[in-house]
Amino acid sequence: MKIVLATSNQDKVKEIKEFLKGYEIYALSEILTPFEIIENGTSFKQNALIKSRAVYEKIKAMGLGDEFIALSDDSGISVNVLNGRPGIYSARFSGENATDKSNRKKLIDELNALNLSKTKAFYTACIAISSKFGNYTTHGFMHGDVINDERGDNGFGYDFMFIPNGFDKTIGELENSVKLEISHRSKGLNLASFVLKFLQKRFNG
Ligand code: IMP
Repeated sequence: MKIVLATSNQDKVKEIKEFLKGYEIYALSEILTPFEIIENGTSFKQNALIKSRAVYEKIKAMGLGDEFIALSDDSGISVNVLNGRPGIYSARFSGENATDKSNRKKLIDELNALNLSKTKAFYTACIAISSKFGNYTTHGFMHGDVINDERGDNGFGYDFMFIPNGFDKTIGELENSVKLEISHRSKGLNLASFVLKFLQKRFNG
């Protein structure tokens, strides 16, 4: 059983590969030429499944459906006082040509407009797996606070402005190993590893 990651986000690829050591994992670009996937779902789960199914269908069309499964991650940050925004729109928070930097700036501007230097937030990751044995999803969460400032340089996206519960530093300031232990993605992948073990057995007959 080989795994192709249904994401072209290199930061996610790095974290997923680090967590799922021991599996034969391929980045999307190693197997397929890039193609557009329209993430028009209304939840992390729907968008994660849209990605894993789209990639698995392509893999199957190439005759590799008996060999590969597709694994995707749809994730984002939800800020309680913003009624859960940006949520599933985290990657596009600041508009069409959004970058991680412009998204952080928009979030900082929104916190400043509310006179908030620190407020409750959480990350969500939905991991979806599509295979010849069906589709599976798991979720993971990381709770904490967002601040109206950027600190540190580890991680990506909103990590420089997120302080996980039980810590007094942003993910950007903490060691990578801490994120690998406590993150939404790691928790979702931890549950997904049971699905992977189950699928591995089915592949082995
Ligand atoms: P997706 O690629 O459509 O799932 O969008 C995920 C977006 O959520 C990214 O662009 C990041 O802005 C944010 N995000 C998700 N996971 C993380 C994380 O672990 N750290 C920081 N930002 C994240």
